[in-house]
Amino acid sequence: MPNYDSHIPLMEHFETLQGEGLYGGYAAYFLRLALCDVGCVWCDVKESWTLSDDQWKPLEFVKEKLSNFKGDIVVVTGGEPTLHPLQNLTDTIHELGKRTHMETAGTNAISGQWDWITLSPKKFKPCLEENYPKASELKVVIFHKSDLEWAKSMAEKCDPTCKFYLQPEWSKRDKILPEILSFIQENPQWALSLQSHKYINIP
Ligand code: SF4
Repeated sequence: MPNYDSHIPLMEHFETLQGEGLYGGYAAYFLRLALCDVGCVWCDVKESWTLSDDQWKPLEFVKEKLSNFKGDIVVVTGGEPTLHPLQNLTDTIHELGKRTHMETAGTNAISGQWDWITLSPKKFKPCLEENYPKASELKVVIFHKSDLEWAKSMAEKCDPTCKFYLQPEWSKRDKILPEILSFIQENPQWALSLQSHKYINIP
């Protein structure tokens, strides 16, 4: 049975542009790890919730794929990546001279060395308190107007250097966007994050 010394449970991997947050628009290589312990009702990657034996991939495989990627940013996402020990993966990425970015709901302790952490807490399972100060950017998905006040309460737990983003949940975007825009006008420390990859139909 493979283990984390030499393998990682990889659901999919692909080169694209980062669509969200401060690094939106930059070339990025996504490593989507299998398994999630959050269970968002609006999840658009429910196939990442489970792990099958054939998804364990050698770190050497990851290394080979990343060697052909000309960009700097490697985004480790899920699923929920904090379900896995990630030190060996971040070492592998850094050995190639690339940046380690993580996207997490923060439901478990964060392992590995990260150049950028996008924390996106979800109401369906609480983020660990210890993870808020580790966030480089806080990205809150807005599904309902009440989520805007919830976003404020989470921002208070973050480091003063943290960037704050509000992102309309895709299926509600037309309805919720005006609420988000007025919130940002009243609270200009927040910015809008759009899932630009979905608008231009790339992964
Ligand atoms: Fe889906 Fe991400 Fe929510 Fe997990 S945390 S259920 S992968 S949206």
